[in-house]
Amino acid sequence: MGAIQLKQVVKSFGDVEVIPPLDLDINDGEFVVFVGPSGCGKSTLLRLIAGLEDVTSGVIEIDGVDATTLPPAKRGLAMVFQSYALYPHMSVRRNIAFPLKMAGEDRETIDRKVEDAARVLNLTDYLDRRPGQLSGGQRQRVAIGRAIVRQPKAFLFDEPLSNLDAALRGTMRLEISELHHQLATTMIYVTHDQVEAMTMADKIVVLNAGNIEQVGSPLELYRAPRNLFVAGFIGSPR
Ligand code: ADP
Ligand code: MG
Repeated sequence: MGAIQLKQVVKSFGDVEVIPPLDLDINDGEFVVFVGPSGCGKSTLLRLIAGLEDVTSGVIEIDGVDATTLPPAKRGLAMVFQSYALYPHMSVRRNIAFPLKMAGEDRETIDRKVEDAARVLNLTDYLDRRPGQLSGGQRQRVAIGRAIVRQPKAFLFDEPLSNLDAALRGTMRLEISELHHQLATTMIYVTHDQVEAMTMADKIVVLNAGNIEQVGSPLELYRAPRNLFVAGFIGSPR
C-alpha cells in the first residue's frame, strides 16, 4: 500500500505562498521524483507529505485516509536522511534499531527486523562497526536501513546523494532503484539533478516556483515537454 493524494494543497510562510493550490496523485508502488531548481519548493512539498510541515489549506490522503492533521509518526511514512545524520558513537546495529527502540518494540522483534534489513542492504557483516568505519555507500545504506525497519507505506528521500562524489552517486542511484524493485514500496525522491530524475523515476513531477509544470514518465517528458521550462530543465530537444 502507499497511495498518496494531494488535493488543493497550499503552503504559505507568512505572506509568501510557496506552494499554490496543487493536486497530485501518487500511486501505490510508484517511484516518483520531484525535480526542479533550488528554492522551487521540493523539500517543502515532501515535508508536507511527511507531516513535518502543516498545510495552510487543502487535504492530504494516505491510502484513502485523511492524513492532513496526523503527526509524522502516525502517517506510516519514513524519511531517509543523508548519511551524516547517523549517530557516530553507535554501532550500525544500534543505528538501524534506533527507530524501533523509540517505538518501544521488544528486543527479539528489533533483532529480527534489523537483521532482515541488513540482509536486504548487504550490511550483515558490518552490524558491529561504527559509521566512521564504513564507506560512504555503506553509510548511506545504514541511513536507508533506519527507514526500512519501520516497514513504511512509502519512503521519502530529500536529495540523499547530494553530499556524495559523482562515482558513488551513480552506484547509489542503482542501489536505490534496485531496492525499489525488491521492496515494491512507494518512493518519493527529491532532487535537483535531471540525471537522477530521468534514470530513477516511474513518474517525474517538474516543479517551478511551487507550480507543477508537468507530470509524466521520463519518456513522456523527453518526447513531449509541455513548455520551454520543462524542455530546458530535463534537457530534451524541443
Ligand atoms: P527546494 O527544496 O526546492 O530547494 P524549499 O522547499 O526548501 O525548496 O523552499 C521553497 C521556498 O520556501 C524557498 O523560497 C524557501 O526560502 C522558502 N522556505 C522554505 N522553508 C521555509 C521556512 N521554514 N520559512 C520561510 N520560508 C521557507
Ligand atoms: Mg530542498
